Amino acid sequence: MPRVFNFSAGPATLPEEVLAQAAEEMLDWHGSGQSVMEMSHRGKEFISIAAEAEADLRTLLDIPDGYHVLFLQGGATLQFELIPMNLMRGKRSVDYVHTGEWAKKAIAAARGLAPSVNLAASAEDRGFTYVPPQSTWRLSDDPAYVHYTANETIGGVEYHWIPEAGDVPLVSDMSSNILSKPLDVSKFGLIYAGAQKNIGPAGLTIVIIRPDLVGLGVPTPPLMMDYATHVKSESMHNTPPTYAIYIAGLVFKRLLATGGLAGAEERNIAKAAVLYDFLDASDFYANPVDVADRSRMNVPFTLPDPALDAEFLAGAKERGMVQLKGHRSVGGMRASIYNAMPIEGVRALVSYMAEFAASKG
Ligand SMILES: *Cc1c(COP(=O)(O)O)cnc(C)c1O
Repeated sequence: MPRVFNFSAGPATLPEEVLAQAAEEMLDWHGSGQSVMEMSHRGKEFISIAAEAEADLRTLLDIPDGYHVLFLQGGATLQFELIPMNLMRGKRSVDYVHTGEWAKKAIAAARGLAPSVNLAASAEDRGFTYVPPQSTWRLSDDPAYVHYTANETIGGVEYHWIPEAGDVPLVSDMSSNILSKPLDVSKFGLIYAGAQKNIGPAGLTIVIIRPDLVGLGVPTPPLMMDYATHVKSESMHNTPPTYAIYIAGLVFKRLLATGGLAGAEERNIAKAAVLYDFLDASDFYANPVDVADRSRMNVPFTLPDPALDAEFLAGAKERGMVQLKGHRSVGGMRASIYNAMPIEGVRALVSYMAEFAASKG
């Protein structure tokens, strides 16, 4: 069976070269006589793997000195709660921008933990098909932070700009577009991302936090929920997701060897253009998102009649293309085309889409 083109939103496709290297090193990592999975997380072999992964991530994102990089567990979903628990620091309100399903979950979590949650802006009026321009944002008076969802994985809406928050710490969920383009980390108080979209296997969550925001939770959060614990222990307070960190490290190395994040961005622009240009030229398929806010990572599209969806998906599967079914909340299809999706996969999809539309016309 040849490998399929996997358009899943997450866990998502990984670079084939990374999987091949992991396979090669599976039974004996670098002459250690063991698999990375079997290593003590406190042994020198694994410490070197984790340190190299962190160093490579710092290089890729050009993370400013002083910022902490944490390798945690619990997914982006746990961060929805840790962020208010740690960053409220006695202030009265937090600000969130509502752009869809993932913002909604972050907001719901904050509502349970912050005295007041202000929706600085919302795209609900047009069904979450755009990013509210900064000029429409209404920040509260002295909020603890401003939170936004850099890429709505389900709605296919992405910020192609960094919001301006002045002195207020800017916090962003980058689960589905981190490492897809260069990023000015210095603009952020905290960045978080689950690994299983654009980094590596599920089980690893990356948090990048400005040092002055660590250890300010009021009341002090429980040990496991306090960023200070993980900063102090260098993400080794308890057993970290060792194998996921190792694979993420291989992904970082591959990105560094293929032009860094500028290279990734160039490839992602080219891939997204293949699909959006096709959609724009088609009167069979449709994408509801404002052109300027279209995601380069997740491309939702609909067929003229949902009754055709099952046949479309079956035909795609026969041609080696899987996981194209859209999220149940929006219906239709969704092609996730993260860093690891080759342009050949996007071309194969577009060619099948054209064939399918012609067969119905
Ligand atoms: C997938 C996703 C999440 C949830 O991630 P988990 O690792 O399942 O907790 C949160 N935010 C965004 C933008 C996502 O794409």
